[in-house]
Amino acid sequence: SPVIGVLALQGDVREHLGALTSLGVEAVGVRRRAELARCDGLVVPGGESTTMVKLAKIFELFEPVRERIAEGMPAFGTCAGMIMLADRIEDGAAGQETFGGLDITVRRNAFGRQVDSFEEDLHVAGLEEPVRAVFIRAPWVESVGPDVETLARVEGGAADGRIVAVRQGALMATSFHPEVGGDTRIHRLFVDLVRGARP
Ligand code: GLN
Repeated sequence: SPVIGVLALQGDVREHLGALTSLGVEAVGVRRRAELARCDGLVVPGGESTTMVKLAKIFELFEPVRERIAEGMPAFGTCAGMIMLADRIEDGAAGQETFGGLDITVRRNAFGRQVDSFEEDLHVAGLEEPVRAVFIRAPWVESVGPDVETLARVEGGAADGRIVAVRQGALMATSFHPEVGGDTRIHRLFVDLVRGARP
């Protein structure tokens, strides 16, 4: 079975490890290059993206992760992890770097102060029943390149139609936190991607 890493510098690492383990893959926290080298795929969790960049550099993981993604390693980013996989940030901290890979532009903290955190039922491409999506100071996807598939949009309210889940090749990202609440269907989509991408 594949080995799927969870970048374990910051954020909700344990919940992702639990979701992946329950799907029968070997899930490992990644803090060192040797751990990254074992991985067939990588989850980049939520947290705070500028802090994650700093820590990734301190742990000498920033370039290695960027390279693995550029070489085709499947990766799944949630919330801050989505920002980390985006090629472009609309209004990030000055010069904010990312691992990149997804041909998308994201807007950080896009939903604004009044709606810092909220939950919503979302239809996700590839899943029959809606997902209860938890958003916490979430980004949204401002625009996508031609090879990016939109998996979910906000339905109703001020942010109606905003893109909150995408896929491009072996890369996936959600604005929300699928590791919260025990529904592992979105993790399963990623595990299927990793299995498909294995040689
Ligand atoms: N607002 C955070 C950032 O910009 C992301 C929040 C989260 O991951 N829950 O990095």
